[in-house]
Amino acid sequence: MAPSKHIVIIGAGPGGYVAAIRAAQLGAQVTVVENQALGGVCLNSGCIPSKALLSVIELSEKLKKADDLGLTLAGPTAVNPIQMVERKNRVVAGLVKGIATLFKAWGVTHIEGTGMLQNAQTVEVQKADGTSESIHADAVILATGSSWPNFPLFPIDGTMIITSKEALEIHRVPENLLIVGGGVEGCEFASLYSGLGSKVSIVEMMPKLLPLEDEEVSALIERELKKRKVQCYLGTKVDKVTRSETVTNVTLKNGTSLDADMILVSVGRRFNTSGLGLEKVGVQLGARGEISVNERMETNVSGVYAIGDVVGKAMLAHVASAQGKVAVENIMGHEQAIDYNVIPAGIFTLPEVGRVGLTEQQVREQGIEPKIGRFRFAGLGKSHATGDTIGFAKVVAHPETDMILGAHLVGAHSADLVHEAAMAMKLKATSTQMAEMIHAHPTQAEALMEAAEDVHGMAIHQARKRLGT
Ligand SMILES: Cc1cc2nc3c(=O)[nH]c(=O)nc-3n(C[C@H](O)[C@H](O)[C@H](O)COP(=O)(O)OP(=O)(O)OC[C@H]3O[C@@H](n4cnc5c(N)ncnc54)[C@H](O)[C@@H]3O)c2cc1C
Repeated sequence: MAPSKHIVIIGAGPGGYVAAIRAAQLGAQVTVVENQALGGVCLNSGCIPSKALLSVIELSEKLKKADDLGLTLAGPTAVNPIQMVERKNRVVAGLVKGIATLFKAWGVTHIEGTGMLQNAQTVEVQKADGTSESIHADAVILATGSSWPNFPLFPIDGTMIITSKEALEIHRVPENLLIVGGGVEGCEFASLYSGLGSKVSIVEMMPKLLPLEDEEVSALIERELKKRKVQCYLGTKVDKVTRSETVTNVTLKNGTSLDADMILVSVGRRFNTSGLGLEKVGVQLGARGEISVNERMETNVSGVYAIGDVVGKAMLAHVASAQGKVAVENIMGHEQAIDYNVIPAGIFTLPEVGRVGLTEQQVREQGIEPKIGRFRFAGLGKSHATGDTIGFAKVVAHPETDMILGAHLVGAHSADLVHEAAMAMKLKATSTQMAEMIHAHPTQAEALMEAAEDVHGMAIHQARKRLGT
């Protein structure tokens, strides 16, 4: 029997740890080097903690309608930030332990320390106790992720000017929170902190919130945030920041002056490439400082692969995991190329967003006039039964082939619902096929069936063709 390959993975985020398990499943000997907790940003200070906190706010909002639902509460509900954070920490700790258990079950070796390439086949690990170890590798996967950048205009001090990392610890609920950046992170934290009782303002330099999303989705999220008293300053940016002991004054380019007792900087990420020995080994970087890779996740140096945020493609946990699987399949001799065409994503605002594929606007930019189908959640029996009537589903289809080019949902469970459309796109289905598939009643998923029917003007529970008419 040929000796198994030894794969060394630097970084145990959703890219690195998933790659490790898949590599072990394929028969490799695997060592993972990680200098923080297993699970990376996603598990420790990103996806999971933010959703653990947001789920509490979501529930508390629902309980505000208790009377209407016929629910008598023993007393008024109040969010308790300390207990919320404690629960969030328990959720995270449990999942981190889960990765350690999986590593054990699959025979993955975990070394605590900072990894660095000595050459393409040797990783040196600096351990916390000052010792170091050189490990031979048949292949190395760089999965070091990304971090919070530091902007000269916003010197992060962790108390008055913070990043999402500190925001997740809720050390303090500010009276006035100014969020710089109205993208995914900014809008999620605006939902969270407005739910905690802060008066939130968002400054976004693009003309709309969630600049990459469908316009109608962005408009609905802006409307919902405004209902939560969130002030949105769009199409402008921060020009000047002046600090006193308790208040930071911010002047925007449009002349507006705002006072805040906390600023959350929610813009940009920095690729974790420094100290990795990349120059020494000759690994090429791209224009933004990300590690350059091909569709097999290979860098320009034979035997050195890179995956996840550090390669700067779609910086999402599930993309990192998918890239990790592709990298190890290739290392183990199975031909694999990453396919970025179908990447579903969720945004956990209140209400949440689900998206896959192209927006209506992006299709038009390609010179194609798409066919659009829309369906409001208010037209669904299930939405009324559960009280989740806000939102809609939108299907974007090709005018000639009828193939589904994108789907955009906003409202309860949208981040889950979008996967039906993603699967349809993966299988190159048409909107007619989606409409013809029998959907269970009563479910929120019927919104996608009706939106697909609406592509052809045939939605049953819709009196008029267009949303907003
Ligand atoms: C607030 C927030 C919310 C988010 N929410 C979502 C979401 O809902 N859905 C989603 O898909 N994505 C979300 N993301 C993005 C997601 O967290 C990242 O895309 C994902 O974590 C990237 O995974 P990765 O494995 O590439 O890197 P990371 O998760 O960054 O992990 C890299 C690991 O490598 C370690 N490391 C770095 N250098 C070394 C070294 N030299 N030696 C040893 N170890 C090293 C780091 O300590 C880290 O643990 C969110 C991010 C943030 C900040």
